[in-house]
Amino acid sequence: MQESTDETVKFLFELSDGLRVETVLIPFQGKYSACLSSQVGCAMNCTFCHTGLQGLKRNLSTEEIVGQLLGVQTWLTQARPQDDYISNIVYMGQGEPLHNFAAVRDSAKIFISQHGLSLAPRKITVSTSGYTPGLERWKHEMPDVNIALSLHSPFSEKRNQLIPINRRYPLEEVLPLVEAIPTGKKRFVTYEYLLIKNFNDGSEDAHATGALLQGKKAFINLIPFNPFPGTRYERPSDQTVIDFKAILDTYEIPTTIRTTKGDDVLAACGQLNSSLRPAYCAESPA
Ligand code: SF4
Repeated sequence: MQESTDETVKFLFELSDGLRVETVLIPFQGKYSACLSSQVGCAMNCTFCHTGLQGLKRNLSTEEIVGQLLGVQTWLTQARPQDDYISNIVYMGQGEPLHNFAAVRDSAKIFISQHGLSLAPRKITVSTSGYTPGLERWKHEMPDVNIALSLHSPFSEKRNQLIPINRRYPLEEVLPLVEAIPTGKKRFVTYEYLLIKNFNDGSEDAHATGALLQGKKAFINLIPFNPFPGTRYERPSDQTVIDFKAILDTYEIPTTIRTTKGDDVLAACGQLNSSLRPAYCAESPA
């Protein structure tokens, strides 16, 4: 594992066939979120994502997904017993979770079960790039967990460039499926918006995003791009991020700017890549 100066911890687990997968523990307010991977690599090939460069090696089994949590909890209890509580689970590590639907579904059921972690469903979030075949199964098969959609642009042409599957599963098809998912008055869809310098961080992008999501059960998470070796994209200035949020605020959509955590050890959003040779220890989660 590697520890960031901000106490984020990145783990590299070696699986029984020798492949590796990364998991991240993210501290907040004396508790932790565990960011789990669902696949070794990923087939979606998003151009801003370090994992996408790996290609898809294989799906993780339910045991390998649950095992990641057991592995990081064991480390946490030993290394930081004073604050060893994992309160949230996010499927935002390596892989497109809905491309490995059954294993992700079953692992979430185990986390929720009285015989598992007894975690409240609202403490679990599954993120997707908009993989429609999985979204179509969600309503009938997925437990009542939260959904986060990687939006990144309201414009087809730009979203095609960032998330190539947008050509096959365009936003016009994805949005109605996603919007139908949250249940209960206080539930909403999280829309992740990766801000990339001089690409999707302009005022026209902010206004179009606001117009697209205004009046919906939406929560926007702005993520300033986290650079990784070899990427062509750059991070916007802090002021640009603040200005983007200010425009969204005029549409009265709750919006937060995600604090970057773990970027010094390539553990931040979009930076995971388990094909890099590690200089740190590996344990098997399952
Ligand atoms: S952003 Fe997610 S879906 Fe896209 S390539 Fe990376 S891991 Fe896969």
